Amino acid sequence: MQSSGKLHLGNLVGALSNWVKLQDQYDCYYFVADWHALTTGYADTSPIKESTKDLLINFLAAGLDPEKCTIFIQSRVIEHAELHLLLSMITPLGWLERVPTYKEKQQELKERDLSTYGFLGYPLLQTADIIVYRAKYVPVGIDQVPHLEISREIARRFNYLYKEIFPEPEALLTEFPKVVGTDGRKMSKSYDNAIYLSDSPEEVEKKIRTMVTDPARIKKTDVGNPELSPVYQLHKIFSSKKEQDHVATGCRTAGIGCIECKKILIKNVFKVMEPIWKKRDELTRNPEILDHIVNKGTDKAKKVTEETMQLVREAMGLY
Ligand code: SF4
Repeated sequence: MQSSGKLHLGNLVGALSNWVKLQDQYDCYYFVADWHALTTGYADTSPIKESTKDLLINFLAAGLDPEKCTIFIQSRVIEHAELHLLLSMITPLGWLERVPTYKEKQQELKERDLSTYGFLGYPLLQTADIIVYRAKYVPVGIDQVPHLEISREIARRFNYLYKEIFPEPEALLTEFPKVVGTDGRKMSKSYDNAIYLSDSPEEVEKKIRTMVTDPARIKKTDVGNPELSPVYQLHKIFSSKKEQDHVATGCRTAGIGCIECKKILIKNVFKVMEPIWKKRDELTRNPEILDHIVNKGTDKAKKVTEETMQLVREAMGLY
């Protein structure tokens, strides 16, 4: 996960909760991709150190367990960069240029000069990040599948040119609910509608209290349609079935007010956030725990990547 900005409930319900489940089923490697943050944020690197730390705190607060999975920072495992360099020798430019997100993102971030190799080579660095572990699976969202396709092509090209070293990584796609933000659009940093894991209880409560509702419910006596209310969309994720039925019926019959409905949601979001707040607080007060975890994770990651790079150097005929 790229270290750029704070994590929100959408990231928790989407990626992180899935990662937590996977750590019991696979030998997982999770890292903060700080080099990736440079591909678009090279002109101002001042936020990277803090956001790297914050992301690590969120990994742990969300339930990643360093006893079950390997947690580290990309830039500490230099072999990612070595493999990236070697793969750049065999990767045709056209493969990188045709990754759909390349042009889309350039458009999206028009104010930044992204005509750099680092930005074009983003999917190549990502390929190195994956295949340096000779990984079989990558837990990705559907939008990342084209990136993974190029990783498969590059692995195949390496295997064809030199030696069968890399498995072609497959996507481990997971269905997860779309999390809406406080304005009803998809929860996103760029829409300024997100509830962040680093928000205080007061902030979370305020954000939910002021959330958009079904516009037809102006007064408590107006009947509403919960399906048109972002509050109900969040109930579907965070509330029990019984509570969902209770608020949906209450909304349709004007038997419940929006304030009461939101109070139930606040209680349930708090239930999810409370252990996260507790853990965040503990880690923020004791940063040495983070250092210890990262050092341990880095050592383990380096052991695997060094083995891979030994094979790669030999296969490519380097001395
Ligand atoms: S009662 Fe709940 S679901 Fe219905 S409009 Fe109000 S906040 Fe939304």
